[in-house]
Amino acid sequence: MTIVGLTGGIGSGKSTVAQYLKELGSTIIDADLIAHELTRKDQKATAEIVKLFGNGCLTEEGHLDRSFLRRQIHEHPADKLKLESLLHPMILNECKQQLKHAKSKTPYHVLMAPLLLEVPDFKNLCQTIIVVSVDREKQITRVMNRNNFNENEVLAIMKNQLSDEERKQQADYLIYNNGTLNELHEEVAKLDQKLKSAPLK
Ligand code: ATP
Repeated sequence: MTIVGLTGGIGSGKSTVAQYLKELGSTIIDADLIAHELTRKDQKATAEIVKLFGNGCLTEEGHLDRSFLRRQIHEHPADKLKLESLLHPMILNECKQQLKHAKSKTPYHVLMAPLLLEVPDFKNLCQTIIVVSVDREKQITRVMNRNNFNENEVLAIMKNQLSDEERKQQADYLIYNNGTLNELHEEVAKLDQKLKSAPLK
């Protein structure tokens, strides 16, 4: 079964594309969701994070204090590396497990990960890469509206991601998400047809 990687910058429309592909019969493995689940209260990854950063990274109720961690890794790049070295192998392992058991009605499964191209182990799982791209102004506005962030908060996140140009260079298929949701839907349906007729890898 072919594994199709789906990636793009923050707010580019990955989840929206994934939802459409799911409606067309594909199973979606969502690395972000997996990361979230691995770091729920009392999960193994949460305990390991506490070992690294101390009890200060937990809320009073014992949940991971995600905004504390975001600040910590923003201010201390070495901590970002430590956190990634801990989490990426766990996320990768869970992605592999889910892929092993996945059932799609299409001849491909989809692995959706924001850092797919930044982390070679994720990229190497995929035989084909879809990149979702959106014009910078639209991207900023969509994320500001969705997350209630101000422009500087969006720019700070974008600064930590690959540029759109770098992503596009690694794409087998590109989806431009500058139009309406209906137009995106049509693009995804066309892409699904192309993937179905592409030689299986
Ligand atoms: P993240 O990386 O932050 O998880 P994402 O790449 O998964 O984001 P989405 O959540 O799919 O992006 O889309 C970002 C926001 O933009 C959402 O609120 C979504 O509803 C909206 N959106 C996506 N595509 C369009 C479109 N073509 N027209 C209008 N709004 C859109």
